[in-house]
Amino acid sequence: MLLRFIAGSNMALVALFAGVSVVGAQTPAPPAASSPPLFATTKVDGTDNVYVFRYQGHQSMFVVTKAGVIVTDPIGYLRPQAVKTYIDEIKKVTSQPVKYVIYSHHHYDHIAGGKPFKDLGARFIAHRLAKEHLTKLNNPDVVIPDETVDNKRVISLGGTTLELLYVGRNHSDNSLVMRLPKEKIIFAVDFLPIQAVLFRNGPDTFIPDYEASVKRVLELDWDRMIPGHPGPGGRLGTKADVKDLQQYMTDLSAEVHKAADAGKCWDAAMKEIKLPKYEALANYAIYLPGNIERYCSYWARGY
Ligand SMILES: [Zn+2]
Repeated sequence: MLLRFIAGSNMALVALFAGVSVVGAQTPAPPAASSPPLFATTKVDGTDNVYVFRYQGHQSMFVVTKAGVIVTDPIGYLRPQAVKTYIDEIKKVTSQPVKYVIYSHHHYDHIAGGKPFKDLGARFIAHRLAKEHLTKLNNPDVVIPDETVDNKRVISLGGTTLELLYVGRNHSDNSLVMRLPKEKIIFAVDFLPIQAVLFRNGPDTFIPDYEASVKRVLELDWDRMIPGHPGPGGRLGTKADVKDLQQYMTDLSAEVHKAADAGKCWDAAMKEIKLPKYEALANYAIYLPGNIERYCSYWARGY
């Protein structure tokens, strides 16, 4: 979901860093003043030790404690430089070792390229089903998790508590929500896009489990969400954003349900259904037909 960067206006890209304290950033010979830096590390406002590392269109949370660093997604797919940069950026903040790397879900664009963290001695953790998929896929650029989570696991390190929570199947069958209870922050990747429609035709998506999963996230105690792709203007997400997504899914589902009953799935529905209320969402024009396609499969076939 790099499209926010490609399709977004230059002003939005400039605004990416407004109001955040940039700890380390590099601008490689910018062709224009409006180009965003290749990467940036920002400390989350109001926290002592929670950081977001962004590289191009992907983001990863890391947490620094006095007993080591908890890293989440390596975000190094087809770009080992991103992981090297990630490690350099952590070293600018702390001399503590990286103890854990926790995968948000098994999709390569978020979790490939982690070997340099393995070489530093980190333990890799993911949902049980993520490990199953990755073991079968056997991609040489993906570190297979050392440990797995089923429904819940709590990591306690150097005075920081991080919960790894499984909220059911959604954008994949193995997404973990990572919650910092003290800071009331969650890191959730891909399944809760902020002011954006869903990803294409949801090739790894589970309906209706996805909707139940969104509801479970809303029931958790948190105020701010760090997304796996930068939100509008680089901002963090809120429960209002998740409720908006929930409403979008409800409205989309209802429209496609009607179309399915009228025998319009897939092709006519994909051409005819418009949701003007949601036109301003990121990727609306390019991904709406795919979103309809996914719900057509559900309502017209039952899968
Ligand atoms: Zn994904």
